[in-house]
Amino acid sequence: MTGLYDRCVRCGVRVPWGRSVCRQCNPADLPSPSPTQYHATVFLSVLLTLVVVAVVLLIRG
Ligand SMILES: [Zn+2]
Repeated sequence: MTGLYDRCVRCGVRVPWGRSVCRQCNPADLPSPSPTQYHATVFLSVLLTLVVVAVVLLIRG
């Protein structure tokens, strides 16, 4: 029977079904293991945080 587990595409350990990489290979639990996407996500997160802070400061005067 297959279907309960999948294989990590990087190290080959068992991972829950539907996941492409294990926790060790993807500690941030991102949907994609792509390094480019990882960096883009981090950049967007930082940018979004800065925007939110700026808006809060503007609202509070
Ligand atoms: Zn792995």
